[in-house]
Amino acid sequence: MTVGGAKEVRINPGDNVLVVGLGKSGLSAVKFLLQIGARVSVSEGGRLDRLGRETRRFLDGERVFVEEGGHSSELFCSVDHILLSPGVPLTLPPLTAARAMGIPIFGEMALAAQFMKTPMVAVTGTNGKSTVVTLLGELLIAAGKKVFVGGNIGTPLTDYLAGKQEAEVAVLEISSFQLDIAGAFSPEVGVLLNISPDHLDRYETYADYVASKFGLFRNQGPGGAAILNGDDQEIIKGAEHRSEGRMFCFGRDLAGQQGARVVGARVEVSGFGDREDYDLSSTALAESPNCENAAAAIIAARIMGCSAKSITKGLAGFAPLAHRLTVVAEIAGVRYVDDSKATNIGAVSSALEGLPGSVLLIAGGRDKGGDYGLLAESIRQKVKVLFLIGEAREKMAAAYAGLTDIVNADTLEEAVSRAQRLANPGDTVLLSPACASFDMFSSYAHRGEVFQKAVMRLLSPTASGAAHKVEEARHACVL
Ligand code: ADP
Repeated sequence: MTVGGAKEVRINPGDNVLVVGLGKSGLSAVKFLLQIGARVSVSEGGRLDRLGRETRRFLDGERVFVEEGGHSSELFCSVDHILLSPGVPLTLPPLTAARAMGIPIFGEMALAAQFMKTPMVAVTGTNGKSTVVTLLGELLIAAGKKVFVGGNIGTPLTDYLAGKQEAEVAVLEISSFQLDIAGAFSPEVGVLLNISPDHLDRYETYADYVASKFGLFRNQGPGGAAILNGDDQEIIKGAEHRSEGRMFCFGRDLAGQQGARVVGARVEVSGFGDREDYDLSSTALAESPNCENAAAAIIAARIMGCSAKSITKGLAGFAPLAHRLTVVAEIAGVRYVDDSKATNIGAVSSALEGLPGSVLLIAGGRDKGGDYGLLAESIRQKVKVLFLIGEAREKMAAAYAGLTDIVNADTLEEAVSRAQRLANPGDTVLLSPACASFDMFSSYAHRGEVFQKAVMRLLSPTASGAAHKVEEARHACVL
C-alpha cells in the first residue's frame, strides 16, 4: 500500500479517539475505548437513524460526539488517534489530512498489541479463512480448551478485549485490510493459507496485496510460528525474507519442510514427535481445497497443544459452512452446487479443479478489478456452458469469448432454469461467481439463498415438467 496505518499504537486514559464507521465492529470499539477511559467520538458515512434506538440512546448517554452522513477533516484532525472499522478505505480524504498531521491511524487488531492477554492464532489468505478459523476453533474445543473465535468473522476482537479474556486461545480471522492497519499486532501463530488476485479495486498493484498478507508475520519474534502453504509459490518466495520464528508448511508438495502433507484425503504430520496420520475420507473435509484447510488447522492445533486424538475427534465432527461448495440437490443425475462465497478467481479456480465431470458455471456480479484471464484455461477445460449475470457480464464475456458457450441471463433464477435445460446426467451446475454480490443481492449469503430456492423450484412438477428425485438433500455435504 502507498498509505498504511500507524506502526505502533498506545492509548492512554483521557486520549481522544475517533472511531470511523459505526457498524458492529465500530460500536464494539466505541464501548471498549470508553471502558479504558478514552474520550470517544464517531464519524459515520451513513445516517444514524438506521441504528437501533438502544444504540442511539447509549451514544447519547455516554456523550459520544457523532458526525453522521459524511466525514470531515476538522474532526479527523482534532483527535489523538483514529480507529478505522473494517471496510473503511484508507484513501478516505480526511484520513490523508490526519496522516499529514502525524495522527496515528489503526484498526482493532492494533489494540491487541496493548490489551490482549490471550495467545493468538491469526489466519489470513485470499480464500479459506472462515473455514479454517471455524475448524480450528472446533479442534481446540474438542481438546477441552476455552476458545475465542472472532475478528473478521462473527464477534469483533474488541468485544473480547472488553471482557474478562478467559479463553486459552484466541483464533482470529484477519483480512488484508485489517493487516494494513494492525500496528504492532503479533500473533503467536500466523497462518497464511494462499494468495491469489483479489481486492484489486482497493490495492494499487497485486504486489501491494501480497505485501499486505505478509504483514501477518511483520512483528513476530523468534517465539512465533508461521504456517504457510507449501504449494503456493508466491508464499514460499515471500517466506524467504522471513528470518525469525518456527516455520511449518502444509500442502501436497512440502519439499522437505516439516508440517502437514496432503496425500489424497489423508494428512501426514511431521514436526511433533512421531509422524501422525489423519484420515479425512469420512469427514466433511475429504475433498480439495478442504483437505488443505484441514492440514493448516491441524498444525495450528498441534502447536497450541491439542492431542492427535482430540484433533481426530474434532475433524470428524466438523460441519461445513454454508455457501462454500455446498451441494444443494442432485436432480436427474445433475448436481447443483452453491459456492456463492467464491467472490474471487482463486476460489472459482479451486472449485473447478476439485469438481469431477463437466460444469455449467454461473458467474458474474460486481467486478472487483481482478484479471478474469487467469481462469481462462480452467474455463476452457471444465466449463461446458458459462452463464453470466450482473454488472461484470461484458468484461467476463470478453475474457472467455471462444473458450466455451456463453449465455447472458438477466437473473440468477433464469440462469438456473436455463442451466437445467442444458445439463446432462453427471454434470454439475455450479454457482461460483468470481465477483461480489452487491449489484443484485444484499450479500453472498442472500445470493446463495436465491440460488438454492431456484434449484428447489426445479423440483416442483409445474416448474420443471416432471418431478425429479432428490438424491441428496439441501446442505447435505460439501465437496
Ligand atoms: P474466506 O473467509 O477467506 O472468504 P471461506 O472459508 O469463506 O474463506 O471460503 C471462501 C471461498 O473460497 C469459498 O468459495 C470456498 O469454497 C473457497 N475456498 C475455501 N478454502 C479454500 C482454499 N484453501 N483455497 C481456495 N479456495 C478455497
